[in-house]
Amino acid sequence: MAARRALTIGLIPGDGIGKEVIPAGRRVLEALPASLGLKFDFVDLNAGWETFEKTGVALPEETVQTLQSCNGGLFGAVSSPTTAVKGYSSPIVALRKRLALYANVRPVKTVATAKKPIDMVIVRENTEDLYVKEEKTYDTPEGKVAEAIKRISEKASTNIAAMAGEIALRRQKIRASGAPSIHQGPLVTVTHKSNVLSQTDGLFRTASKAALADPRFSSVKVEEQIVDSMVYKLFRQPEAYDVIVAPNLYGDILSDGAAALVGSLGLVPSANVGKTFALGEPCHGSAPDIQGQGISNPIATIRSAALMLEFLDEEEAAAKIYAAVDANLEEGKFVSPDLGGTAKTEEVLQDILRRL
Ligand code: ATP
Ligand code: MG
Repeated sequence: MAARRALTIGLIPGDGIGKEVIPAGRRVLEALPASLGLKFDFVDLNAGWETFEKTGVALPEETVQTLQSCNGGLFGAVSSPTTAVKGYSSPIVALRKRLALYANVRPVKTVATAKKPIDMVIVRENTEDLYVKEEKTYDTPEGKVAEAIKRISEKASTNIAAMAGEIALRRQKIRASGAPSIHQGPLVTVTHKSNVLSQTDGLFRTASKAALADPRFSSVKVEEQIVDSMVYKLFRQPEAYDVIVAPNLYGDILSDGAAALVGSLGLVPSANVGKTFALGEPCHGSAPDIQGQGISNPIATIRSAALMLEFLDEEEAAAKIYAAVDANLEEGKFVSPDLGGTAKTEEVLQDILRRL
């Protein structure tokens, strides 16, 4: 039977354990049942610190151009020097810009059988806010002063809120299909600090709420929350959240904070999403402390591959991967050392492949 759809996926392992986990993600995609009608063509691509040391460029132009002709990609991790090195800048930040990946999506989820189940997604605006990196330093009679621009646009805020709404609807659809859930209906929480930053965060708030008032989101409940009280509630009552939408900086902080709720960085996936392209990326770094020991947890990457598929409209394939990972975690027999187990990367992978 001919495949219903061929997907070209760029693979960028990068540095450190990126080289151990990205191959695991690939093997999971290859092991998806043929009945789904998907065919994958993989392209190996370079970026990162090692690439920079070899070639003087952290993100080769060829990598960007090849990705532009792919449907999706998987990005491992890159090591960055702690102090600035001339000519080096983070390839993932550059990739988000070059490929117009305007959203960073991070699901934070425990298994359903957890004592305190959590199931939320943080949707972070990825192109503006304080991260436009327009900073300057100047001298005054009292000493140096540094300033940074915080830029918020109606357009980017509308786009990110609409994406949060779509994700809330999709999650509800998956629940309605019988998947166990801790949530009643779709909920989006708009995060801001407009009581202080009335213009910038004020615009994010009004544009987000206007976008979510669209009739297609009529079944989505919309709440708003000031970011500081949000951090408090996120730790006290994480089960209360379904989809969180936030401007870049708050989203960055919330998503790392939320990742701490589920036990290990090795579990948490993310995707950088644009209009027609999704780049899956485990939320951990290159973990030089465990590199080369064969013990890195591949689950964050495997879940990132599933998340990428969700944004390529392959929900059924994504659901199969999520279920296989959940079953592995629920049984708890083949778990890696970061979760208190003794299983090697390869053993965790084999257990997940068997369940697929
Ligand atoms: P980088 O500079 O690339 O971000 P890092 O030193 O900050 O590297 P992280 O990758 O962010 O390291 O990891 C932080 C901690 O979590 C490390 O102790 C690391 O071993 C652990 N860790 C991260 N990812 C995994 C994983 N997939 N499996 C097991 N442990 C992990
Ligand atoms: Mg790190």
